Amino acid sequence: KTGFVAIVGRPNVGKSTLLNRILGQKLSITSRKPQTTRHQILGIKTEEDIQVIYVDTPGMHLHQEKAINRYMNKAATTAVKDVDLVVMVVDRMRWTEEDDMVLRAISQQRAPVVLVVNKVDFIKEKDELLPYLQEVAGRFNFEQIVPISAKTGNNVERLERLIESYI
Ligand code: GDP
Ligand code: MG
Repeated sequence: KTGFVAIVGRPNVGKSTLLNRILGQKLSITSRKPQTTRHQILGIKTEEDIQVIYVDTPGMHLHQEKAINRYMNKAATTAVKDVDLVVMVVDRMRWTEEDDMVLRAISQQRAPVVLVVNKVDFIKEKDELLPYLQEVAGRFNFEQIVPISAKTGNNVERLERLIESYI
């Protein structure tokens, strides 16, 4: 089985750290799948019976003025259209306007969206996260909300198994 997973999110939420954690040494760059020419491939994790192709999307780093933003978001929407799953990464601290823009761009497509709340290693008391998880749950019909720490690896394997279940 081969599947495409888009990793999206505003800058600095930990997308690259998460990918490095997921990919480890199992990094390959070849695929015959047609989508590989349409997407910017971030990495491919190949295991015995499953291959997950992680792709980047244009327009998710939003530093342009508005008309350009709209155009880029449209491009991003097109890019995520063909994936099996969208993984949106946010910070555990607070939801920003940039997160809203990312969400608007991806909410126009059909792939299921899993929300990853990253950097939970900053959180000392477990209950501290609960109000935030409730808040983000109300923002979109996310398939699942998964708190992780890309830095320590906490809960990342659970996220991977979840990702694989959509492929
Ligand atoms: P990207 O822009 O979304 O790709 O974010 P990066 O992966 O480059 O991470 C941005 C910064 O956040 C870097 O300094 C990372 O070391 C840090 N970071 C990423 N994930 C975590 C995490 O789970 N915990 C902590 N404490 N820092 C993290
Ligand atoms: Mg990055």
